[in-house]
Amino acid sequence: MRFSALKILTEGLTGNRGWGAHWRDPEPADGYDIIIIGGGGHGLSTAYYLAKEHGLKKIAVLEKGYIGSGNIGRNTTIVRANYFLPGNSEFYSHSLKLWEGLETDLNYNVMHSQRGQIGLFHSDGQRDAAIRRANSIRNQGDDAELLGVDQLRKMVPYLDYDQGRFPIYGGLLQRRAGTARHDAVAWGYARGADQRGVDLIQNCEVTGIEIKAGVVQGVQTSRGAIRAKKVGIVVAGRSSQVAAMAGMRLPIESHVLQAFVTEGLKPCIDHVISFGMGHFYISQSDKGGLVFGGDLDMYASYAARGNLPMVEHVAEAGMTLMPMIGKARMLRSWGGIMDMTPDGSPIIDKTHIEGLYLNAGWCYGGFKAVPASGNCFAHLMATGAAHSAAQGFRLDRFRTGRGLMDEEGTGAQHNLH
Ligand SMILES: Cc1cc2nc3c(=O)[nH]c(=O)nc-3n(C[C@H](O)[C@H](O)[C@H](O)COP(=O)(O)OP(=O)(O)OC[C@H]3O[C@@H](n4cnc5c(N)ncnc54)[C@H](O)[C@@H]3O)c2cc1C
Repeated sequence: MRFSALKILTEGLTGNRGWGAHWRDPEPADGYDIIIIGGGGHGLSTAYYLAKEHGLKKIAVLEKGYIGSGNIGRNTTIVRANYFLPGNSEFYSHSLKLWEGLETDLNYNVMHSQRGQIGLFHSDGQRDAAIRRANSIRNQGDDAELLGVDQLRKMVPYLDYDQGRFPIYGGLLQRRAGTARHDAVAWGYARGADQRGVDLIQNCEVTGIEIKAGVVQGVQTSRGAIRAKKVGIVVAGRSSQVAAMAGMRLPIESHVLQAFVTEGLKPCIDHVISFGMGHFYISQSDKGGLVFGGDLDMYASYAARGNLPMVEHVAEAGMTLMPMIGKARMLRSWGGIMDMTPDGSPIIDKTHIEGLYLNAGWCYGGFKAVPASGNCFAHLMATGAAHSAAQGFRLDRFRTGRGLMDEEGTGAQHNLH
């Protein structure tokens, strides 16, 4: 089933009775060429590009819950390519270009909205850093504009510009940045992968990884053993637990990140806005809710729910930046489990076990990476060589110390990234 304007019109006129399921619900086969563990954004996009770009046929995605139940359905939907460091910047640039063609590629409305993202600065030092970042982004071929405070006041009049503690000096705008509907991204990739013959197997938890003489043989699951020539671990916040099934100890800590949404309001926030003096960022969803978030809860945990001190902290940051937000009522908050690396940058690499591959360490920025991550991981799994946009995401940088990409400059403490 392909979507088209004509199909929507005829379905609308005939009671919407002709829509089928978006993907099949197959039983697991005895074996596959490639098994992807984890049906989140990265696992689904990997399977999609393996089938689409490398013509591989016998692929399964094993998901312990349902498609969209992990971080892919929990994030605040921000998409941008404003990274500073070589290694990161070419990768996120690649991802943004894939985003720009994604709806056509998938024939699926992922509600990609390039509404612009503005990172605020509040001191001369932060302005210098923003200028350096803007130059780096432009050298990479992406867009970045420095806004003075007068320009900003016209574009985003609702901010508290003159507050004594954190006055706003200006902002760094990326017009091509914005948002996309998170679960539609999962559904679009799932449907595209299924159409190309990938088996999406939900309610199938991987409980063990079979290895013989240093070579991967397959996986144990809650639905029986499944053989595979290659296995990709793509489980975000559960990376350490699943890698431990192969005897590996990853340089990853899992931490909770919360997000919040208010009641639906009339359109009032046109862009994505990031506060520069605290961890707070906000946008408005298409339904009208103000969607915002802040820092990690400051301890390692596998609980996908948050705690009140961080709720208070985020609410305070919001009130500091835009006091008008105090009038909105908060509807919901939720949490997701973040796979934090010591330098805040991800891993897309082989492991020391032949046929076992790792895609992890997305911290709290992996939604924007979904297209490029799947694209580059599929390239690695299919060809054995790292994609040119993901050369730096090596696992051994945490052992050797060479090639670390500490974008935030905060050192080796996981929860500070
Ligand atoms: C509150 C919040 C806000 C965020 N905001 C942004 C943002 O604005 N922009 C941005 O770029 N990023 C953001 N992120 C980060 C982004 O959501 C994640 O980095 C990204 O979604 C992680 O990759 P994924 O989609 O593959 O993860 P997931 O969707 O978590 O996929 C992993 C899957 O693996 C499955 N799994 C785990 N163990 C097993 C097993 N043993 N067997 C089988 N399956 C298993 C899980 O059930 C899960 O479905 C945010 C995250 C959160 C929580």
